[in-house]
Amino acid sequence: MSLRIVVTVKYVPDATGDRHFADDLTVDRDDVDGLLSELDEYAVEQALQIAENADDAEVTVLTVGPEDAKDALRKALSMGADKAIHVEDDDLHGTDAIGTSLVLAKAIEKAGYDLVISGMASTDGTMGVVPALVAERLGVPQVTLLSAVSVEDGRVKGRRDGDAASEQLEAQLPAVVSVTDQSGEARYPSFKGIMAAKKKPVESWDLSDLDIEAEEVGLDGAFTKVETATERPARTAGTIVKDEGEGGKQLAEFLASQKFI
Ligand SMILES: Cc1cc2nc3c(=O)[nH]c(=O)nc-3n(C[C@H](O)[C@H](O)[C@H](O)COP(=O)(O)OP(=O)(O)OC[C@H]3O[C@@H](n4cnc5c(N)ncnc54)[C@H](O)[C@@H]3O)c2cc1C
Repeated sequence: MSLRIVVTVKYVPDATGDRHFADDLTVDRDDVDGLLSELDEYAVEQALQIAENADDAEVTVLTVGPEDAKDALRKALSMGADKAIHVEDDDLHGTDAIGTSLVLAKAIEKAGYDLVISGMASTDGTMGVVPALVAERLGVPQVTLLSAVSVEDGRVKGRRDGDAASEQLEAQLPAVVSVTDQSGEARYPSFKGIMAAKKKPVESWDLSDLDIEAEEVGLDGAFTKVETATERPARTAGTIVKDEGEGGKQLAEFLASQKFI
C-alpha cells in the first residue's frame, strides 16, 4: 500500500521586508511579500527522500494561509511533491497556534496519512509547537526535532541531537515528526520541476469542508491576544570607544552598564 506523507508548509512574510501590524494588531500580510518558510523546505526534502526510498509513496503538501500561500505550495510542488492542499477562509484571520493545529489536524485526517512531516518551527512565529499540537489532536505519536529520519517496516526512525547526547527515536506509523535544519540540505527546484508543478493538483478547502465552526478559530477563538505593539525605535548611532590605553576598561564598563557581564 502506498505510503501517504503529508508535509505541513507555512507561507511566511519575508523577514527581509518591512513588516507592520494592522489595526487589529495582527501582522499586515497584504503589506509584505511572502514565501515558503525556509525551515519547511527541510521537511519537504525529507519527505521526498523517504518517498524515493519507498516502493510506493505519495507526498502531499498542506498549508493554512491566505490566497498568496499558494506560492509556498507551488515551491514545494516544484521541488517534487505530488499534490497540494490549501486551506483558506476569511474566518481564519487572527488564528493562533492552537487554532492552526486544529485546522491542520482536520485537513490531515481528511487527506488521509501515514506520516506527517513538519518543520522545527516557522520562521515568523517560531513557536515550534504546532507539530506537537497536531500529533495530540490526531492521537498519534510525535517524534520531534529530528536531524535524521527514515521509514522502515511501518515505523519512523530518527535521531535527535541534544547538547550533551544524541537520541535514537522511533515510533509506529501513523505518526508526526518534525525535522531540523540539520536534516539535510533542501534541493533547488529544477526547471523541469517548476514546469511540472504547474500541472500538479492543488485542492482548496475552507472551514466548512473541515467541519470547523468560525468561532473555533480566528481572533475570537484565539487563546493568545496581542494587547499592544509599539514601533521599534529608529537606530541611533552607537558609542565609539577609541582605545588610548583605557579601551578595554571602557568596553567592560559599557558591557557591565548594559548588564551583559
Ligand atoms: C491568515 C492567518 C492569520 C493569522 N493570524 C494570526 C494572529 O493574528 N495571531 C497569531 O498568533 N497567529 C496568527 N496566525 C497563525 C500563525 O501565523 C501561525 O500559523 C501559528 O500561530 C503557528 O505558530 P508558529 O508559526 O510559531 O508555528 P510553529 O509551531 O513554529 O511551526 C512549526 C511547524 O508547523 C507547521 N505550520 C505552522 N503553521 C502552519 C500553517 N499555517 N500552515 C501549514 N503548516 C504550518 C510548519 O511545518 C512549521 O514548520 C495566522 C495564520 C493565518 C493563516
